[in-house]
Amino acid sequence: MDRLENKVAIITGASSGIGRAAAKLFATQGAKIIAGARRQAELDQLIEEIRVEGGQALAIAGDVTDETYAKTLVEVATGTYGRLDIAFNNAGTLGAMGDTPDITLEGWQDTLSTNLTSAFLGAKHQIPALLKSDNGSLIFTSTFVGHTIGMPGMAAYAASKAGINGMMQCLAAEFGPQGLRVNSLLPGGTDTPMGRSVANSPEMEDFVKGLHGLKRIAEPEEIAKAALFLASDDASFVTGTAMLVEGGVSINKT
Ligand code: NAP
Repeated sequence: MDRLENKVAIITGASSGIGRAAAKLFATQGAKIIAGARRQAELDQLIEEIRVEGGQALAIAGDVTDETYAKTLVEVATGTYGRLDIAFNNAGTLGAMGDTPDITLEGWQDTLSTNLTSAFLGAKHQIPALLKSDNGSLIFTSTFVGHTIGMPGMAAYAASKAGINGMMQCLAAEFGPQGLRVNSLLPGGTDTPMGRSVANSPEMEDFVKGLHGLKRIAEPEEIAKAALFLASDDASFVTGTAMLVEGGVSINKT
């Protein structure tokens, strides 16, 4: 059974990694996809793959820090497909990393802009359209870093992603009475270009795997399946949740 039949979904960060896997999975489940990211060629390749598999999708390239882009994604969803049911605000960056005294104000602000302000801009323009859906689902990609554990050198990333979780809770309370569900998804280490930029040597890969209770990192498709749950009516009573899908990083002590 198609779990997203007749639904329309915006997915950002769809040119790579988790967003790309989610776009493909959502499309196989019947959703019509509006795929966003900056790289047009990667998005075009994704759209081609979805269409070959019988799905419906289109790509709009842009920068999630740009409010006009957030507005355009919604206008394209409603203008082309007539509705918006799901918004998966997933685009993100590790941003400014390293010893906090060495982080520049510009690096800090860029990280917050790409990860947190983008989530606000997405939500701001998506919510009015999502409220017209019978079963709207608004999802943000956050992380376990800064939620259940701290990690050195990641203060800007953690702050930006923890900010998403705080905003998510308020949005869930604000729009729950109108039936909109709002959640965030907290992946563990995942085999994507971002994940690989941390696990960038055999030693670092072993270290990152060892952080997880399952002693491995995730495939992007495993995170996409959790996003599918939150997007679908299977999660009809799930809102306001920061959902850990992190292979046991947060409970691991070995
Ligand atoms: P990824 O493969 O590097 O993908 C990141 C995506 O975000 C790309 O599609 C990129 O597209 C897009 N993006 C970045 N900055 C953007 C901007 N300013 N405007 C528009 N799009 C932008 O990484 P990923 O692992 O799939 O990351 C997806 C999400 O998961 C992120 O929010 C990340 O923080 C989170 N996460 C990842 C891990 C992990 O271990 N991989 C763990 C926890 C959480 P363009 O470059 O084409 O713009």
